[in-house]
Amino acid sequence: MKPASFEYVTAESWDAAAASLAEHGDDALILAGGQSLVPVMNFRLAQPAVLVDVNVIPDSAYLQIDGDSLRIGALTRHVRFEAPGIDGPLGRLLPRIAHHIAHLPIRMRGTFGGSLAHADPASEWCTLARTLDAVMIAQSVTGERRIAAADFFHSALATDLADDEVLREVELPALGPDWRCGFAEFNRRAGDFAIVQSVAAIELHEGQIVSARIGVGGATETPQRSGAAEKALLGGAPTSELFAEAAGAAADAIEDFLTDQQANADLRRDLVRVMVLRALEDAVSAG
Ligand SMILES: Cc1cc2nc3c(=O)[nH]c(=O)nc-3n(C[C@H](O)[C@H](O)[C@H](O)COP(=O)(O)OP(=O)(O)OC[C@H]3O[C@@H](n4cnc5c(N)ncnc54)[C@H](O)[C@@H]3O)c2cc1C
Repeated sequence: MKPASFEYVTAESWDAAAASLAEHGDDALILAGGQSLVPVMNFRLAQPAVLVDVNVIPDSAYLQIDGDSLRIGALTRHVRFEAPGIDGPLGRLLPRIAHHIAHLPIRMRGTFGGSLAHADPASEWCTLARTLDAVMIAQSVTGERRIAAADFFHSALATDLADDEVLREVELPALGPDWRCGFAEFNRRAGDFAIVQSVAAIELHEGQIVSARIGVGGATETPQRSGAAEKALLGGAPTSELFAEAAGAAADAIEDFLTDQQANADLRRDLVRVMVLRALEDAVSAG
């Protein structure tokens, strides 16, 4: 199918993009990589009257360490994360995650900001953002707003972004050298969206886990941090037994599993257990 007709506007700055959204309200949508929006428009599940193309906005694709943060420009393409040029545990984790997103042609176009704004429950970047408590920087004609990841994801495909806000930048904590980070996901075919995935980040001091961030995506409407798994890990040594206990706690704590043609709640619960375990094992083996 072809999309319904629409007006096409090119924004040359984030200010201009925000002004277009303010002018057209919920009749307008941002076009970033188009890898989610264009299919949705072709099926006529979205019929925006105006498309605001942000692809030519200069200096909007970057990964930049700034003090304790990694700043990520909204237009940074997925493929850029395959060689992020960043030292430390995050620099080693990002390529391992990026590799799981779709196929290369999609990774060449799709953007980090587009993934977060689209908020698919099984998006790798959404799970990473929730796990690490990213801060989303939204811009409108009235100014800038910082949104914590815990408040950003409302439900599947719905975020805290208002109709007149663009997502301009995302901040992740630049994890120090004592952190170990891992990732695991299950899907039926390489390149498909995950059914369940997990990001694990643990901070070690003298052989003990002193901080833990365990995230799960694909299991529920929005990515979640697992407080139960994190509690199980704190103060312990990074052993297989402790990881299995934490993974079990993560699975047992979830009550609102998604069910669809891919997997029912029981399968998703089993997958959470296995993916959290594998993400923790990945963290200590790959780092
Ligand atoms: C076959 C296929 C397989 C895929 N597999 C995966 C996968 O395994 N994992 C995964 O995570 N994704 C997957 N995707 C989706 C892909 O990652 C998209 O790139 C991503 O979901 C959206 O990014 P985009 O830049 O293409 O955004 P677009 O498609 O341009 O936009 C998506 C939505 O976000 C809004 N938007 C975009 N940017 C902004 C912004 N800066 N501010 C405000 N709103 C904005 C748009 O208005 C639109 O509503 C797949 C896509 C396809 C076609």
